[in-house]
Amino acid sequence: MPLTPMEIYKLLPKTNCKKCGEQTCMSFAFKLINREKKLEDCKPLFEEKKYEIQLKKLQEMLKPLEKATETGLIVNEALCNGCGNCIVVCPVHVEKDPRGAGVGKGPTIADPIYRIENGKLIVLNMHACRRYGKSRILCVVCRENCPTDAISFLEG
Ligand code: SF4
Ligand code: SF4
Ligand code: SF4
Repeated sequence: MPLTPMEIYKLLPKTNCKKCGEQTCMSFAFKLINREKKLEDCKPLFEEKKYEIQLKKLQEMLKPLEKATETGLIVNEALCNGCGNCIVVCPVHVEKDPRGAGVGKGPTIADPIYRIENGKLIVLNMHACRRYGKSRILCVVCRENCPTDAISFLEG
């Protein structure tokens, strides 16, 4: 299940003390998901014993963020069989590399999003993904076409 700011917020101190540099704990929760802030930026969580259990829960909950790429996309290497479906169906590859990655051949562009190496999917350039940046689109094409559920997203 994708992680939501509300789930994180519920476990924060909810005092809006601003020590993290944010005006509210909710704003901090959003920035944590976007990886613009780290849990360590909320000092009260670490300094005040009364938040000990909440801190442990948050640390567990945020573990997937460590594996996520800049767009929140996560590839589970153990599940990937290297079939290359995700590379071929990606609309960015279809558009930018219609003779290479977009038709299942080796990429002919310098900056493909994905490539297969040693039988596994490697993420090379998430900045080209439609989920990246301010005008992002929550594309799910690669995830939906992965036969082994090796691709997931932190949100959407
Ligand atoms: S430092 Fe923690 S408690 Fe204070 S506003 Fe930020 S998230 Fe909330
Ligand atoms: S989310 Fe969409 S644009 Fe991004 S890599 Fe997957 S298929 Fe390509
Ligand atoms: S579609 Fe899934 S199994 Fe196939 S290469 Fe991509 S991540 Fe790996």
